[in-house]
Amino acid sequence: MPYTLTIKSSFSSAHQLKGYQGGCENLHGHNWAVEVSVISETLNDIGLAVDFRELKKIVKRVLKQYDHVVLNDHPDFREKNPTAENIACAIYKKMGEESYGDNQVRVDKITVWETEGCSASYSE
Ligand SMILES: [Zn+2]
Repeated sequence: MPYTLTIKSSFSSAHQLKGYQGGCENLHGHNWAVEVSVISETLNDIGLAVDFRELKKIVKRVLKQYDHVVLNDHPDFREKNPTAENIACAIYKKMGEESYGDNQVRVDKITVWETEGCSASYSE
């Protein structure tokens, strides 16, 4: 897997963690920072694994549904808490359903930063 491309994006939303003993049990908001890494075995004839612009467009589309909502109300989090861990996993699954052009590009890892010092990553 010689080439890894990573882009950063973000969204803002509210969540509450049910069953958590502490302040996070109450509804509150975060500016979530998201790092999406994809890997590719090959490059196209102009030397790109995938166009960053294209990748950003896909990430933006995926994150849009989590932006300015209460995550607990989103269907993806009806059954489980919208923790950074579960959000990273949900984004990974959604990014995996996208198409990245001709190259053998696949999602490698999703990292979700809840605050500047705290992140959770998911990969398979
Ligand atoms: Zn929180």
